[in-house]
Amino acid sequence: MPFSKLDLIQPLLDALHKSGYTTPSPIQQKVIPLILNGRDIMAAAQTGTGKTAGFALPVLQRLSEGKRVSANSARCLILTPTRELAEQVHQSVQKYAANLSLKSVVVYGGVKINPQMLKLRRGTDVLVATPGRLLDLMEQNAVSFTDLEFLVLDEADRMLDMGFLPSIKRIIGKLPKNRQTLLFSATFSESIKAISQQFLTNPALVETGQTNTTATTVKQWIYPVDKKQKPALLSYLIGHHRWDQLLVFVRTRRGANRLSVDLDKRGIKATAIHGGKSQGARNRALAEFKSGEVTVLVATDVAARGLDIEQMPLVINYDLPNVAEDYVHRIGRTGRAGEKGSAISLVSADEVDDLRAIQDLIRQQLERRIADGFEPQHSLPETPLKSPRKKKPHKKKLAKAQLNQANKKSGVSQNKNKRRKPKPTNKAGKSNRT
Ligand code: AMP
Repeated sequence: MPFSKLDLIQPLLDALHKSGYTTPSPIQQKVIPLILNGRDIMAAAQTGTGKTAGFALPVLQRLSEGKRVSANSARCLILTPTRELAEQVHQSVQKYAANLSLKSVVVYGGVKINPQMLKLRRGTDVLVATPGRLLDLMEQNAVSFTDLEFLVLDEADRMLDMGFLPSIKRIIGKLPKNRQTLLFSATFSESIKAISQQFLTNPALVETGQTNTTATTVKQWIYPVDKKQKPALLSYLIGHHRWDQLLVFVRTRRGANRLSVDLDKRGIKATAIHGGKSQGARNRALAEFKSGEVTVLVATDVAARGLDIEQMPLVINYDLPNVAEDYVHRIGRTGRAGEKGSAISLVSADEVDDLRAIQDLIRQQLERRIADGFEPQHSLPETPLKSPRKKKPHKKKLAKAQLNQANKKSGVSQNKNKRRKPKPTNKAGKSNRT
């Protein structure tokens, strides 16, 4: 199915053509008509499947058909959890809106606020923001939402988790009720679904494929290895396979710095990206990696969301994440838009519980490979996949079933356990009934 079948206007079709997109991805096919029709959306789609164009294209189309933006106002607000994702979504919006006369602005923390306030003065059709900086700008009356038509929550699971929820509630409390709200996320837990119902009006639920799964184009396996052998194994693998561009995930900022220095010492050009670095340093690290100046980008989970590096061939989990969903996000950096990719995890014995949680989430047992010379001394316990847990029956129902069972055995009727009235008897003690 070509994009033209989706009722998109010519300026958008031209921009898509220029980007080299020929067919809409499954999520785009589903959400674009719904958004054009004015529906609220709650969409779960695997990361890297084209979610951004899924919401940006129809929103831009609707904005281009509406009235002009007034000073200090925004007509569409897109909230993202990280600065990198904000920057990236903004770049996509600019790309798709290239042939439309719509303005877009991106705001996030870690950089000066004044230039952002200046940009907002003339108003913007699309405002892409991280929650903290947006609240600062709102407190300084730098932006008004009285004309707001669209709210988009990208990576909504992260946006609505405990850390962000109070900020999101404060922001949404200041938005007009009469708006279209679009929630996009790679993972959707039941509690997030429940919370998000507060912000949505009769939403269309959209799912493509299974949620909490990894792209089928990504080949995944693990190397069981002792913890202290991880740096040596990583540099061996890089040298042996002649990998020239890889993203390596670690749990902590210190770990990221330590590993990038260690790799440098071993003659492998590496740089770290994490939340403790200034925005300038983060942008620089990403640019060096994208241009091929450095081979390895060592990242914490902050960078797992939002990094879109074309044809990222390989992701390494140097540490497993302790939140299983983060594994899905991390390895979503490869195999994007149908490309092939590999995701390799170095797993030490102390990470066995994290491994189990990840396998349970993605419902897949990860293949184990042993690298010659790196056989672990502390063996990693086997982690067979648990068979799906049967729902525990409700306690009361269980008690009732047990009672019925016992009654059945003892010959007592199961007639709702009501105590029967004793039958009237004649004096001889015999039943009156014949
Ligand atoms: P997203 O899931 O929005 O982060 O997009 C993942 C990647 O797929 C980005 O690099 C997009 O530029 C690209 N992309 C989005 N839609 C399409 C499409 N219909 N055809 C080809 N590539 C696409």
